Amino acid sequence: SEKYIATPTKTKDILKKFNFSFKKSLGQNFLVDVNILDNIIHHAGIDKTTGVIEIGPGIGALTEQLARHAEHVVALEIDKRLVPILEDTLEAYENIDILLEDVLKADLHQIIQQYFPKQKEIHIVANLPYYITTPILMKLLRENLPITSITVMIQKEVAERMAAKPKTKSYGSLTIAMQYYTDAEIMMHVPKTVFIPQPNIESSILKLTKRSKPPVDVKDEDFFFEIVKASFAQRRKTLRNNLNRFLKDSMSKEEIKHILDEIGIDGSRRGETLTIEEFANLANAILEKSL
Ligand code: SAM
Repeated sequence: SEKYIATPTKTKDILKKFNFSFKKSLGQNFLVDVNILDNIIHHAGIDKTTGVIEIGPGIGALTEQLARHAEHVVALEIDKRLVPILEDTLEAYENIDILLEDVLKADLHQIIQQYFPKQKEIHIVANLPYYITTPILMKLLRENLPITSITVMIQKEVAERMAAKPKTKSYGSLTIAMQYYTDAEIMMHVPKTVFIPQPNIESSILKLTKRSKPPVDVKDEDFFFEIVKASFAQRRKTLRNNLNRFLKDSMSKEEIKHILDEIGIDGSRRGETLTIEEFANLANAILEKSL
């Protein structure tokens, strides 16, 4: 009756059989609900023509469902204790490769070339370890991988920040970073009860669809992100104030006021009211004046 790994009974049996103890430091919360997994796979847009990279397979709950729906699955796991377990739990599936790798150190371009040389579409899917969600997603986006989308289970508050609209509490530099590379959308919220052990936080499924090119033209990406970050440095202060502080060694207040006037942005606004287009104009104008 316990057909799949992702049930409380089967999961507990596996943990017991291998005498596995959770490592909290690795963000190990395993999914035990096939219905939630079906939702993840549906939202990710997986079918028998697609390749999938999974980050952190755990004991294989999501990996198994991915293997049933995708052409091929490559899963990167950092915890070497899980490798023999996965070899056992996923024995019946021939379209899975398990790699003992830290995703933050892995050469993902090389892995894609090796395992998906001619794949039409590649998706990344994961129930991410919460303690390194942002570094993982930033790495996946900045490396400009040939992937179509990233669908991940992450902490609800972080998902809300990544998919936020201007003038909301959640809108910030993380929102702009995600918007620059992707179209970010929260697909559903997920209760704590579908994990073993249950985390202390709420979770959401976030889908990031990669853009073919950024929605704005920026002259210097690093400088653009620095200006965005500086504009949110003190959220309750005005944009003018934050910029004055960030640029104090390179520009006078008058020069900054002049730039803001020129591009039609009121310096008494707060960073959270600026759109990505306005941030792009701002960064480009400051860069031009400081050259
Ligand atoms: N996919 C499984 C599931 O849904 O039941 C497990 C998800 S659990 C939230 C996160 C997994 O990521 C754990 O198996 C953990 O060992 C692994 N992990 C943590 N840090 C990692 C890293 N830097 N690289 C690869 N895997 C990592």
